[in-house]
Amino acid sequence: MSIDKKLADALLARAEKGDSTVLRSVELKSLFDQIKTLPPEERGAFGKEINALRQKLEHLLSQHQLKSEKLEAIDVTAPMDVNSSLPELLPATEGSVHPTMKEIAKINDIFSRMGFEVWESRSIDDDYHMFTSLNFPEDHPARDDYDTFITEEGLIAPAHTSTMQNRIYKARKKDLEAGKPIAAIVTDRVFRNEDLDARHEHTFHQLEGVYVSKDVNVGNLIATLEEFLSSYFGKKVESRVNPFYFPFTEPSFEFSLSCPFCDKKGCSVCSQTGWIELLGCGMIHPNVLKEGGIDPDVYSGFAWGLGIERLIMMKYGIEDVRHFQSAKLDFLRQFA
Ligand SMILES: [Zn+2]
Repeated sequence: MSIDKKLADALLARAEKGDSTVLRSVELKSLFDQIKTLPPEERGAFGKEINALRQKLEHLLSQHQLKSEKLEAIDVTAPMDVNSSLPELLPATEGSVHPTMKEIAKINDIFSRMGFEVWESRSIDDDYHMFTSLNFPEDHPARDDYDTFITEEGLIAPAHTSTMQNRIYKARKKDLEAGKPIAAIVTDRVFRNEDLDARHEHTFHQLEGVYVSKDVNVGNLIATLEEFLSSYFGKKVESRVNPFYFPFTEPSFEFSLSCPFCDKKGCSVCSQTGWIELLGCGMIHPNVLKEGGIDPDVYSGFAWGLGIERLIMMKYGIEDVRHFQSAKLDFLRQFA
């Protein structure tokens, strides 16, 4: 006695198509039931044959599954918003989160609660996003303030996170016109061709922020930054602004906050002045809005940019920016 070939072929064809119900099918079950009806001396051989068939079915099914689990192509060099459906990150079982990443998560959390969406920037960008879209005229000396790295093809390792402004405006223009303000931050890496010392690194992180709506004014800018800084330092801070120059904001300011460590009495963190010059900010230049497709006669907005390591150094009394990328375990373990 052996298995009916037609029946076996039909079952194999189903398995080949990936029909996993074949393993629980009446046909397969009836084969097993037949064993009992056979004379004892034939039962062993027939049973073996059915098991072999079953194994073949399982093999075909698993092969079909492998084929259908298409591996989605991911460009590992592309930023998060380009790779649409990345799997969730697995929790780390060893080591700890780097202090910069930990603080960035806190910053993102504070701004998320304030209604800002969080963007990532590029690690390589172009001249348009680095300069042109931000109202840096060609050959303007302001470009020289950003001593950055440029590839032979003319691509740029971005020297600020403002490279994302134009993309944000274009992506959120429709929402803005529907009455929803643009509120976004970018917390990501930037690169500068710096002479390295305790206060300068070639690679660090910036917190960029933009807010665009109708009738936005400098008061809104100051209130937003004070709200964030008070939340980040866990203490109410005051601020003051001094006029400054950036091509992409008009007017532009240098923003100082009251020293959260000495209540303006003077200490080593604030160089005994009671104030800390922290960041650059201003009202977004009409040309920058226009370049992002937004009508500057209808809408206005503010923007700011600050060094994240600087903020972390202040918060934790870290004396040398180079610690962050040093991979020194005794430094990292203090934040684990
Ligand atoms: Zn102080």
